[in-house]
Amino acid sequence: MNLQEIVDDIASAMKPRLGEGKIADYIPELARIDAKQFGLAVTTVDGETFTAGDASVPFSIQSISKVFMLTLALGKAGESIWSRVGREPSGSAFNSIVQLEHEHGIPRNPFINAGAIVITDMVLAGHAPREAIGEFLRFMRYLADDDSITIDEKVARSEQKTGYRNVALANFMHAFGNLHHAAELVLGVYFHQCALAMSCVQLSHAGLYLANRGTNPLTGFSVVSEKRARRINALMLTCGHYDGSGDFAYRVGLPGKSGVGGGILAIAPGKASIAVWSPGLNKVGNSALGSEALEMLTQRTGWSVFGH
Ligand code: GLN
Repeated sequence: MNLQEIVDDIASAMKPRLGEGKIADYIPELARIDAKQFGLAVTTVDGETFTAGDASVPFSIQSISKVFMLTLALGKAGESIWSRVGREPSGSAFNSIVQLEHEHGIPRNPFINAGAIVITDMVLAGHAPREAIGEFLRFMRYLADDDSITIDEKVARSEQKTGYRNVALANFMHAFGNLHHAAELVLGVYFHQCALAMSCVQLSHAGLYLANRGTNPLTGFSVVSEKRARRINALMLTCGHYDGSGDFAYRVGLPGKSGVGGGILAIAPGKASIAVWSPGLNKVGNSALGSEALEMLTQRTGWSVFGH
């Protein structure tokens, strides 16, 4: 299988379609991005990286950060986290508030905003917000083995000014006793984790531990146990694309996590960690061309968690 040829073919197929979808303009700083960009990076478990298009351009990882914060929270509190957040697909939008009241402030899963805010609250325990942000940034640099990764302060501030829904979600959970720190402190960390800027290449490196039984094959760093890697992948498959998770599983067949910056991290266990980026989003808030590119990739490679 010639992976370089496959990623090149995908990038050429996407070229005439650049700009499709709708940019996330509810975060003003994200609305300024050039929609006509597309990047793809595939890093295999034997350490080779194949790239096409804008694979080295940093973008706002947004909700993809939720996978890594979940990893940190599991490291700190283990399975006890599941008393404060569920493990079921939500069937609603990433920023929905409706389910929360019915379910007494316990979010459906760690990948919708409410669930991610609870996870961030856990990571914040015992720290000042700036220390938690520092811990997250160091963790990402360690995972990707790249100290040049930074947080885009403009994006963080932009969301801080306009994140009314997230403020509502956090306060609502506070009322149910499921937030232990002040909403503004937790959200300060949450907006900064979302504002992390990474390229497809860096992201594909950072995700490798999930493709390789918990250990990054590039660095040899053991990040999580094999069982935990499997479980994080299970959550990504069932909940990683919000209300589009079923469709993503059907079309792509791999665990994946999307962000409103237009990025998607997908994991082919035992094979590769894949990052794709194109800013235009589909109706459920996942990268339009990114999802299609991954569908093409799995068709060409035969990668799937549902058979071979
Ligand atoms: N920072 C974004 C928000 O909270 C993340 C959402 C996303 O990427 N789906 O709205």
